[in-house]
Amino acid sequence: MPAAKFEISRECKFCGDLFLAKTITSIYCSPRCSKSAYAKKRKVENIKKLKIEKALKISNEEEYISVADAVALYDVSRDTIYRLIRSEKITKYNLGKRLTKVYRKDLEELFNLKPITETITAKEEVKTFRLEKEDCYSIGEITIKYGISETSVYTHIRKYGIPTRQLGKSVYAPKTEIDTIYK
Ligand SMILES: [Zn+2]
Repeated sequence: MPAAKFEISRECKFCGDLFLAKTITSIYCSPRCSKSAYAKKRKVENIKKLKIEKALKISNEEEYISVADAVALYDVSRDTIYRLIRSEKITKYNLGKRLTKVYRKDLEELFNLKPITETITAKEEVKTFRLEKEDCYSIGEITIKYGISETSVYTHIRKYGIPTRQLGKSVYAPKTEIDTIYK
């Protein structure tokens, strides 16, 4: 008896091509698109993580902050900040040609911006990868579990920016990340 078929034409979330989805949850047309989407997501997450790390260093005491700090702290673009300065919607303070500071209360009160460090997700984003041995696979274990050569594993680790840790003679990578790229 043929297996029950689930086939529905869908647009791949990465490349936009139409494909026949085999399961309800398929959103990408190919493993290639799924991996590219994952790499893109990781890149965005890394940028956000850097912003949060930067934002965490900005003192709450500062009434005026640099544009770069405002970008990190409120997760808005430089263009947005400069547009607000140009249209005189926010108070700026010029410390010479190259250093403009903005009044952070304006951003918070007029535009209802909240520091990313105060959002719930911010706390989750800064969590570092657990690199304890029990949370990791050794490279050898990955090659066995997923039937992939060591060279490919290293290539993917670099490509997707997966953190690794050397313990004794073996290199370890977090299980969650490895499972995500190979499942
Ligand atoms: Zn695709």
